[in-house]
Amino acid sequence: MRIVLFGPPGAGKGTQAEKLTAYGLPHIATGDIFRAAVTEGTSLGREAKKYMDSGELVPDEIVEGIVFERLSMPDAASGFILDGFPRSVHQAEALDGFLEERGVRLDIVLNFVVEAETILKRLTGRRTCSVCGIIYNIHSNLPPNNTCKCGGELIERDDDKEETVLKRIEVYWRETEPLISYYRSRGLLADIDGSLEPEDVFGEVEKTLKLRLKEF
Ligand code: AMP
Repeated sequence: MRIVLFGPPGAGKGTQAEKLTAYGLPHIATGDIFRAAVTEGTSLGREAKKYMDSGELVPDEIVEGIVFERLSMPDAASGFILDGFPRSVHQAEALDGFLEERGVRLDIVLNFVVEAETILKRLTGRRTCSVCGIIYNIHSNLPPNNTCKCGGELIERDDDKEETVLKRIEVYWRETEPLISYYRSRGLLADIDGSLEPEDVFGEVEKTLKLRLKEF
């Protein structure tokens, strides 16, 4: 199965992707790839950080190169969960071209629908474990002593500060939201209510995949 998780920042794509990995598909998250490169201090990381810190998109040619290299690895040959890609029409067209050359296509694009107010609250309250990457929120599920269940320290992502979050939402509306009609017109889009609790959202995701995909 070739699944794209789509939606504004804070829609819950990462949380749902982690749950979906139980089905044995690799989770390919462009944001995670860039954050790892920043931590490692590679030239990619230094380049990406300039855009990430300001809430802008990393240029298409950089992102596409990285994603297609990752999608060419053997574990992604029969399926994948893409999280945070594509984020522009150029990226979506490039992805279609990449898959077409391999004689395959996307199966579904899950569109997580969440109100702007909820997004702002979620992102500015988000805390991520610096060790295992689990996502918490100060408004709903902050663990005791502000420490992850694995013992790791919880940190706020640099780009989850309110000013950057507002910029990321603006960029979403300008660059990424147009992909909704792109995928809807191709019959690939399935809307999911992303405002529910994570477990309930996952119930919706599984129900939708069962209804729409024979092989699920
Ligand atoms: P995310 O963790 O998906 O919210 O991504 C964090 C940041 O990484 C974004 O705000 C962008 O700066 C960058 N990024 C992630 N995915 C993409 C993409 N597909 N295209 C361009 N920039 C991206």
